[in-house]
Amino acid sequence: MTPKQVLQFIKQNKIEFIDCRFMDFPGLWQHITFPVSELKEDSFDHGFGFDGSAIRGWQAINESDMLIVPVADTAHLDPFLQFPTLGLICDIKDPVTKKEYSRDPRSIGRKAQDYLKHSKIADHAMFGPELEFFIFDNAWYDQGVNSAHYRVDSAEGIWNRGKQDPTNLGYQVRQREGYFPMPPMDTMTDLRSEMVSEMIKLGIPVEGHHHEVATGGQAEIDLRYQGLLKMADTCMLYKYVVKNVAARHGKVATFMPKPLFQDNGSGMHTHFSMWKGNKPLFAGPRYAGLSQLGLYAIGGLLKHARSLLAFTNPTTNSFKRLVPGYEAPVHLVYSSRNRSTAIRIPVYSDNPESRRIEFRCPDASCNPYLAFAAMTMAAIDGIKNKIDPGDPIDKDLYELEPEEYESIDAAPVELSEALDALAADHDYLLEGGVFTEDVIHYWIKYKRENEVAALRQRPHPFEFCMYFDI
Ligand code: GLU
Ligand code: MG
Ligand code: MG
Repeated sequence: MTPKQVLQFIKQNKIEFIDCRFMDFPGLWQHITFPVSELKEDSFDHGFGFDGSAIRGWQAINESDMLIVPVADTAHLDPFLQFPTLGLICDIKDPVTKKEYSRDPRSIGRKAQDYLKHSKIADHAMFGPELEFFIFDNAWYDQGVNSAHYRVDSAEGIWNRGKQDPTNLGYQVRQREGYFPMPPMDTMTDLRSEMVSEMIKLGIPVEGHHHEVATGGQAEIDLRYQGLLKMADTCMLYKYVVKNVAARHGKVATFMPKPLFQDNGSGMHTHFSMWKGNKPLFAGPRYAGLSQLGLYAIGGLLKHARSLLAFTNPTTNSFKRLVPGYEAPVHLVYSSRNRSTAIRIPVYSDNPESRRIEFRCPDASCNPYLAFAAMTMAAIDGIKNKIDPGDPIDKDLYELEPEEYESIDAAPVELSEALDALAADHDYLLEGGVFTEDVIHYWIKYKRENEVAALRQRPHPFEFCMYFDI
């Protein structure tokens, strides 16, 4: 929609409010609501003033006055609010310079998209993230603070199946058996269909939905691929729909990567390809139907993976997912088919247009604008510098002998390690001014202080199991 069309749509649909949605630095949507009378055609240029100092990650700026500028072609009818409301995704600008605010994740996503185009390597990259999540009864929160949850020997007992569905005690999705039995085992089918139905009404291109491997209603809704900015916007709408449909039914959805010990975590495998016009640049005669350019892109992603994970897996909990045995990657290698590697080349189809790489590390606790931008920059670096990804590894990496296992590059085991890697390796992100030194520096500082140290300083419930009676 153009600004004019948005204003017409507002009239025709008797919209009463516009809801301006924008991304904070760590990766949550924030919003401000205005009566429609405040929205003029020039609001799409001039925006609305607001105090940016209270937004997470932006408090360091001396000038707290900022502009929130709605983007017309993101307009969507809100399905959840009681008053007729039009949602608009917004950019953040500086009121003095009128330039995009350098810590606005959406602006970093846009810069990565433009940088790829200007590099002449490709016109655009396509992203197909597979966001997984858990749907719990609200009562599940009791389990989170109950230290039994952390006991090594009680994994069978941690999930109180009676709470999940009291009317259905005989048919239960067991640990790691959720992929994917029919109802009545799968009690979440209608809930997922309702989420998908809301997504389709919002114009989100959905390909299907299913129960995922873990118990506790783990779910996945698959999206058709889109360009960087569009897909990052879509991820935010996706999460909004999932959480609000769950809430409508008295449930809670979480994208936390590893809520249940000893069951699969939730990933956000991201399918990635580059295109010139309609030409798929990753398709060619090399390994698994890839082009040399595709292999170099893999080289870049693997070379920078340890620092890249500071954006694609940016929470302390992210690294509880990246452990052997749960279909999540642990090693920084690639393979066709093999699901234990960081990069898989899906071979479902011979069609060159389907040729893509699946980066399996990311999870949905990431800020998708930053994660997709960082992936793009790592791939560009691989292509520009002809980085050889080495040989593929087609064995199951979880089954390797200890010596073999240790000889392969491993993913960081905790967030602090990924942040250290980012501190040491980020020049590839600064190319073309896509990420700034300030963004990298502040990201590391924010995460170290507010997440790594914050967790480290607190007694952990499992420490009570290990040490209380010492
Ligand atoms: N849930 C798994 C993960 O954490 C992935 C399962 C799948 O292959 O879809 O990555
Ligand atoms: Mg999956
Ligand atoms: Mg996958």
